[in-house]
Amino acid sequence: MKEYDYLIVGAGLYGAVFAHEMTKQGIKCLVIDKRPNIAGNVYTEEIEGINVHVYGAHIFHTNNRKVWEYVNQFAEFNRFTNSPVANFHGELYSLPFNMYTFNKMWGVVTPEEAAEKIEEQRKAAGITEPKNLEEQAISLVGTDIYEKLIKGYTEKQWGRPCTELPSFIIKRLPVRLTFDNNYFNALYQGIPMGGYTKMVANMLDGIDVRLNTDYLQNKEEMDAMADKVLYTGPIDAYFGYSLGNLEYRSVRFETEVLDKPNFQGNAAVNYTDRETPWTRIIEHKWFEFGTQPKTVISREYSSEWKPGDEPYYPVNDEKNSKLYNAYKELAAKEKNAIFGGRLGEYKYYDMDAVIEAAIKKSKGF
Ligand SMILES: Cc1cc2nc3c(=O)[nH]c(=O)nc-3n(C[C@H](O)[C@H](O)[C@H](O)COP(=O)(O)OP(=O)(O)OC[C@H]3O[C@@H](n4cnc5c(N)ncnc54)[C@H](O)[C@@H]3O)c2cc1C
Repeated sequence: MKEYDYLIVGAGLYGAVFAHEMTKQGIKCLVIDKRPNIAGNVYTEEIEGINVHVYGAHIFHTNNRKVWEYVNQFAEFNRFTNSPVANFHGELYSLPFNMYTFNKMWGVVTPEEAAEKIEEQRKAAGITEPKNLEEQAISLVGTDIYEKLIKGYTEKQWGRPCTELPSFIIKRLPVRLTFDNNYFNALYQGIPMGGYTKMVANMLDGIDVRLNTDYLQNKEEMDAMADKVLYTGPIDAYFGYSLGNLEYRSVRFETEVLDKPNFQGNAAVNYTDRETPWTRIIEHKWFEFGTQPKTVISREYSSEWKPGDEPYYPVNDEKNSKLYNAYKELAAKEKNAIFGGRLGEYKYYDMDAVIEAAIKKSKGF
């Protein structure tokens, strides 16, 4: 008899939800994480009374009522709505592209005028078969929006000129002929009051958790403690990178405490010109309508990923998809281990999707 039924590697959302659901079924779980904290990439840390999103801004949004009700067991959500602002050399525009954006850009007042302006610019560009991202964007929304709101931001994100990026990256660009600044088309949206770490702590309430514990460095000892393993770390690391490294896009954050109550008046401001080196500035207090005397901001820089860096976005190109499928075949042969989550499945997963997947894996819902 081993001490635990399940060893859960990773105290992120996938691991925490799975552990919670298994425990409810009477299955004894131990959750471990190599980091000194729970919550994985949704970890929030309190600085100057402000919940700082350490691994990037996280806004909970979903159309899935069951998932929404599920997370509300663990936290009360506020009414935060994601309405980013674009800053192009000091000119501010509303995002996503909507009537406020078009009014600022062209002085147009009615939806008809805005639609005509876009159509006029699309026609003037005369692009019928877009050969790259630049041509694709212009053929969808015209030159002004492309030049001021898409070009610089996209080039910083991908580290390459838009003329060298494939057109399929932007299949469509949402254009709203309404005064709607709500970025997500989701029925439910908000931020857990008190931060994500508290929400994950509630999921893990009553469950054994060991932090600062790397599974792969102590595999034998850890495997001896439980009958089965749920692994939510990087799948290639599990197999010792034996088939090669899966690649990621990375982001670098520079976080600063400022001795003022308000820096930019909004949670997210995108810098859409090419000259400003960062892509976005996040002012964390506005996720929770903070009234603190100080503020905390994070500048985000898009960067190439190299082995050893924090993995953020999987690169879903042919080469990496093939490599992942080869690892997936190896994973299927593991008798006592199952794989899940954004790193275990090498997949971009929004939080609601990760929660749904973990519940399904535990045979819930
Ligand atoms: C920059 C960014 C912004 C995002 N913003 C949003 C958003 O606004 N809205 C949204 O819905 N989703 C967002 N997401 C997605 C969200 O982050 C994921 O859905 C979620 O974090 C996935 O949880 P997970 O448990 O699969 O992975 P993680 O949170 O990465 O958890 C995996 C855990 O496993 C641990 N681990 C790895 N290897 C080992 C090992 N060998 N031993 C022990 N522990 C190990 C890690 O330390 C980590 O804690 C964003 C993602 C990124 C990258």
